[in-house]
This record gives sequence, C-alpha cells and structure tokens, in this order.
Amino acid sequence: MLSATDPARIHADRAAGTLTIEWRDEHHTTYPAATLRWLCPCAYCRGEAGLPGWLDSAPSLTSDQVRLVDLALVGQYAVAPTWGDGHHTGFYTFTTLRAMCPCDECSANRVAAGTPTLGSASHASHEVGGTR
Ligand SMILES: [Zn+2]
Ligand SMILES: [Zn+2]
Repeated sequence: MLSATDPARIHADRAAGTLTIEWRDEHHTTYPAATLRWLCPCAYCRGEAGLPGWLDSAPSLTSDQVRLVDLALVGQYAVAPTWGDGHHTGFYTFTTLRAMCPCDECSANRVAAGTPTLGSASHASHEVGGTR
C-alpha cells in the first residue's frame, strides 16, 4: 500500500530556495524556503512549557534566516534543514510536511475539511511578497 507520508524523493534546491518532496503516492510538495522556516517546529521557534516561541513574536526574517543551506535526513521520519543564520534544530517530520503541503489541491482539501490553515504560513507568503 502506498503511504502518503513516505517520501520517494527529496530535493533541496539551494539556488531556487525550495524544498521539493515527491511522495510515494506521486503527489509533489514544494515548499518555498521562507514558508518552511516559518513552520520550524523547534522549541526555540515554537516555544515550550506554555511559553511563546521566537516565531510567535512575528519577527521580520532576514534573507539569511530564510536561506536554506543544507538539509539532513533524520532517521526515516524527518528532515532537519540548516539555515543561513546557523539555525538547525528544527526537525520536520514527513507527516507534518505532507499535512502542511502548500499546493492548491491540499490547501483546498484542508479548507473543505475545516482544518484551519496555519497563520504562520499565510504570514510567510505575505512577508516574502513584500521583500521580493
Ligand atoms: Zn527553530
Ligand atoms: Zn499538496
């Protein structure tokens, strides 16, 4: 059985600033680096023990902070990007990456299912639009 959260191929395009994942069910997900940075799940960015994280303060990210410089595979279940500012503590599980897929089809499905889209994701596209 094809698993929708199993990556068949992972491609980090540093020049384009995107992370593309081809899933075993043949769906493709492309994350712009800035969107991915906003989704960083680490304790520093997201907060812990009820305290807000750094990203919760809606900082203006510098071009270094949204620049994908490296990508490490964490076991069989996650990837850990390294960013231009040296940040590398966020482990993005494939389940999360698939669930947050920013493509039109998945966004529409989430709306249809009543799943709220991440505020940080729409915030990211706003930020990027303003700086390009
Ligand atoms: Zn982080
Ligand atoms: Zn999708």
